[in-house]
Amino acid sequence: MTEGGAGLVQTLINAAYLVAAALFIIALRRLSSPTTARSGNLLGALGMFIAIVVTLLDRQIVSYTTILAGILVGGAAGAILARTVKMTAMPQMVGLLNGFGGGASTLVAAAEFFRLTSGAEPITLYSSVTIVLTGLIGAVTFSGSMIAFGKLQELVTGRPVTYPLQKTANLALFLAILALGVYLVTQFAHPRAFAAFLGLSLLLGVLLVIPIGGADMPVVISLLNAYSGLAGAAAGFVLQNNVLIVSGALVGASGIILTQIMCWAMNRSLANVLFGAFGAVVEAPAVGDGLGTRTVRDIAAEDAAMLLGYARSVIVVPGYGLAVAQAQHQLRELADLLGQRGVDVKFAIHPVAGRMPGHMNVLLAEANVPYDKLYDLEVVNPEFERTDVALVVGANDVVNPAARNNPGSPIYGMPILDVDKAGHAIFMKRSLNPGFAGIDNELFYNEKTYMFFGDAKKSLMALIGELKNV
Ligand code: NDP
Repeated sequence: MTEGGAGLVQTLINAAYLVAAALFIIALRRLSSPTTARSGNLLGALGMFIAIVVTLLDRQIVSYTTILAGILVGGAAGAILARTVKMTAMPQMVGLLNGFGGGASTLVAAAEFFRLTSGAEPITLYSSVTIVLTGLIGAVTFSGSMIAFGKLQELVTGRPVTYPLQKTANLALFLAILALGVYLVTQFAHPRAFAAFLGLSLLLGVLLVIPIGGADMPVVISLLNAYSGLAGAAAGFVLQNNVLIVSGALVGASGIILTQIMCWAMNRSLANVLFGAFGAVVEAPAVGDGLGTRTVRDIAAEDAAMLLGYARSVIVVPGYGLAVAQAQHQLRELADLLGQRGVDVKFAIHPVAGRMPGHMNVLLAEANVPYDKLYDLEVVNPEFERTDVALVVGANDVVNPAARNNPGSPIYGMPILDVDKAGHAIFMKRSLNPGFAGIDNELFYNEKTYMFFGDAKKSLMALIGELKNV
């Protein structure tokens, strides 16, 4: 190809990359609302498709057959996983995918290392620095994500694993990796040193995640998601591929923002999540512990149907138990029935209800609950005092007034949904057991509260049956 022709091709490639990058940004914007999220997802996928096709046309491809085989195997595995994963297992699936992203970046770094050390091209400071950084971030992301996956999948203990001088040992390991990294940048051609560097980085990923409790894994996964983006961006610098740099940076930035939002919604600092070993000492309190003569009032399906059926307004508060019970379809059916009776039904969405960001939005969208019925915390909270009944389905911490009233509580300061301000509250759960934070909920003992004990799906089915007779 002539010089002018090559220049034109390069310009076209960069233009296509620019389109792909713009599509990623529009996709992110659209993902911020449930009404536009679906099309946002599609636009993001289209951007990635353009980026992949253009890269395949651009780069000096060694073997299309190997690439095709990789796409087929990876695509089939991804499709099967996506279709079969349970909603409650979504966080670990995301963790696994982040890990693969980090692993892929490490492989890119390793491949470039061996290509350059075999004398393919002169080794520059730029290439050695980018390869070392990509290897470090990618390896930490890979092994950290695998531990996060293992904890959530209960393959390894979900309890924080702690031991004396843990942070000091981790710091020492990090400094050793840094020293080896500097050595590699200056004395590049040492495969053994590079292998040791990657090995120690993998170890660091494991050691950083094991002290964190299983319950905090969704935050860790969000952070590792950001790392996988950074690893991707670093790999983009290694390969000098603009779209990889842009998409990696977008993933990195959005992962950090999401991590911050999750910490804010739990009223905890990121440092507390990463180094606080949350969940190590909190035991589920025995029901009745320190509660003296406090009793709860339970309610049967028939009475609950009366209370709801004759209400003017109902706010439904879904939580983790809804996902466990997989009762989203029954919940929608109940809301439809109430709507047909002229009851004004709203769904209140707490940012950390469930076990992953957007958990409730995804569940309710699956059951085709109209988006305009979903209300964010700030918008819905003033509504509770004007509402006859708050129906709490498998939620606990996100409505616990201890977050407002008890400075000693682990969730003190966390914004909550003001269910206690509604005329009545009906709690659907199986027992008086606590939720994620492991703390009692004083609202169960409030005189306006009724406990509707049982699995949420069965309780909702019973309620629907009764409501049809009311
Ligand atoms: P909680 O974990 O506080 O409570 C869930 C409740 O669901 C439990 O008390 C349980 O009670 C009940 N439950 C479980 N299974 C069923 C079932 N089959 N049928 C009916 N009820 C059931 O959930 P929330 O959604 O209120 O709060 C989420 C918590 O998770 C917050 O503390 C949040 O900080 C934390 N978290 C959230 C993250 C996110 O990104 N969303 C990330 C990390 C942590 P019982 O056993 O009696 O049935």
